[in-house]
Amino acid sequence: MKMQAAVVEAFGQPLVLREWDIPVAGPGQIVIKTEACGVCHTDLHAANGDWPLKPGLPFIPGHEAIGKVTEVGAGVTIVKEGDRVGVPWLYSACGHCEYCLNAWETVCPDAKFGGYTRNGGFAEYILADPNYVAHIPNGLAPSEAAPLICAGITTYKGLKQTSAKPGQWVAISGCGGLGHLAIQYAKAMGLLVCAVDIDDGKLTHAKALGADVIVNAKHEDPAAAVKKSTGGGAHGVLITAPSLIAFKQGIGMARKLGTCVLVGLPPGEFPVPLFDVVANCITVRGSFVGTRADMAEALAFAVDGKVRADIELQPLSAINEVFNRLRHGDVPARVVLNFQSA
Ligand code: NAD
Ligand code: ZN
Ligand code: ZN
Repeated sequence: MKMQAAVVEAFGQPLVLREWDIPVAGPGQIVIKTEACGVCHTDLHAANGDWPLKPGLPFIPGHEAIGKVTEVGAGVTIVKEGDRVGVPWLYSACGHCEYCLNAWETVCPDAKFGGYTRNGGFAEYILADPNYVAHIPNGLAPSEAAPLICAGITTYKGLKQTSAKPGQWVAISGCGGLGHLAIQYAKAMGLLVCAVDIDDGKLTHAKALGADVIVNAKHEDPAAAVKKSTGGGAHGVLITAPSLIAFKQGIGMARKLGTCVLVGLPPGEFPVPLFDVVANCITVRGSFVGTRADMAEALAFAVDGKVRADIELQPLSAINEVFNRLRHGDVPARVVLNFQSA
């Protein structure tokens, strides 16, 4: 049996829309019929082969996939046919290394990545590990849930990693797919938000979503502007922008004793101003998606109506056009591929 999929056959080339074998659930596995899958900037990095760890070719990207379980392999008890689940970036982990034991499965050395080292959601069916799928609460439509299982969980976890407390400031650099959700999580967590982007449309949107202050990094020095509006710098900085310049600027936005959380993944390196970081006791840390516990918390905000992804629906066949728009910053928030017939 065949399905339609968008496939990366060569890095840096358009995806190929073609037939692919529908996966079959082996012992301990499940198959999901895709209802919706968000398009993350990470999918673009994956298709470009941007990072040192490269996926094997050909592969099917997509790690914001939501769908219903259609097949359950032998021994699976945690989900049943018909359950609505999500297949996220953290596709599976070993469950018994020092990181898994400490609920840090995101950095398990044996972790597999959805839409990267395992085939993902730009296809009508997906094979998944039932121990690592997201459980989609009732009341959340598949297309609304899709962006939450990567963009949502990543920014929610990233904000927690800033250690900013209610009433304190966070600066969010990059207000696209990740950033527009980060602003909403931050407001729901009682934080003051300074939103930074290079696009006025994104910043108008940021303001509408509750940002207290907006800064266009193209028109003014964003570090100076954030320091001025926050009375000395943000307690937490979350950098989601897929741009190296945003990283150096982000360090400059931090308050003394502040924490700068790096989430964006443009290929390359950036210079750290050592004197500023050392003399101001600034913490710089990376953050990578989130754990299963973070997933449940991130989804609960949406069920309560505190966070809502802004989505534009497109068919799978539009994927190359969507990639081009994402490359040029022309996606207002998140595109979600819609697999449900009207
Ligand atoms: P996106 O394209 O939807 O949004 C990026 C935003 O950054 C846009 O609004 C753009 O205008 C803005 N931007 C670009 N340059 C900027 C600059 N110099 N200063 C401020 N803003 C700038 O992308 P996305 O889907 O939100 O993903 C963003 C990045 O996060 C990607 O690199 C992606 O791979 C990464 N990511 C990381 C994780 C993780 O776990 N760490 C998870 C998901 C995505
Ligand atoms: Zn993602
Ligand atoms: Zn492990």
